[in-house]
Amino acid sequence: MFSEHPTDTRNRPGALGIPLFERGALSHRALPLSLQALTQKALVQGLLDPNQRPASREWADALGNTLDELFPCSRCKQIVPFPSWEAPQERRCPLCGASFPRPHPAVLQLYEERGRGNFVAIERRVVLGNGFRVYPDVVNAGQAVPLSRRGVAPAGHMEWDGVRGCYALVLDTDSEWTVRSPDGSGRILATRGKGLPLVVGHYVRFGDGGRMGIVLP
Ligand SMILES: [Zn+2]
Repeated sequence: MFSEHPTDTRNRPGALGIPLFERGALSHRALPLSLQALTQKALVQGLLDPNQRPASREWADALGNTLDELFPCSRCKQIVPFPSWEAPQERRCPLCGASFPRPHPAVLQLYEERGRGNFVAIERRVVLGNGFRVYPDVVNAGQAVPLSRRGVAPAGHMEWDGVRGCYALVLDTDSEWTVRSPDGSGRILATRGKGLPLVVGHYVRFGDGGRMGIVLP
């Protein structure tokens, strides 16, 4: 029986949720949301019914996507999934328990266009700290994280804008990215070398036909 079964707690470790380095037990809740969902599908719904278990392709995609959700802990220096699904004040390193210093990295939930102007959330989030690169497979429609990004030119990168007090997403290719507020006002366009301010709740469009991202809190 899965040690973190939602209703059957017989195998639940006593130290679950306590940081690993304090003799705690790591929870699958420290994994990105898509891996949490697959774990539950495999070990709860799929425990007695093999047809309910995720396909290997789903695992491969979710593990690949995890690459964009990692962030270094400033205390223990380990690279961990950044808990963007937790409220900002609840975000802690699962290994040492330290909270993440502000400013937290910007988090984008990605959307893909399905028909003109109709965007659907996909199972990809990107966590972007100062200096992080944004790769083509993040911004282009229909692309998955490749096995390696070695030698791939970034489409853009992140810079902390000390004047505005927010991150700026700088475009490094010949494209046109825009950011706009939820009501559509205040649309800003960026071309190569220009930065877009990332404000919580605003939408980033990665060029015509490209993906969209919403800036999460
Ligand atoms: Zn840590």
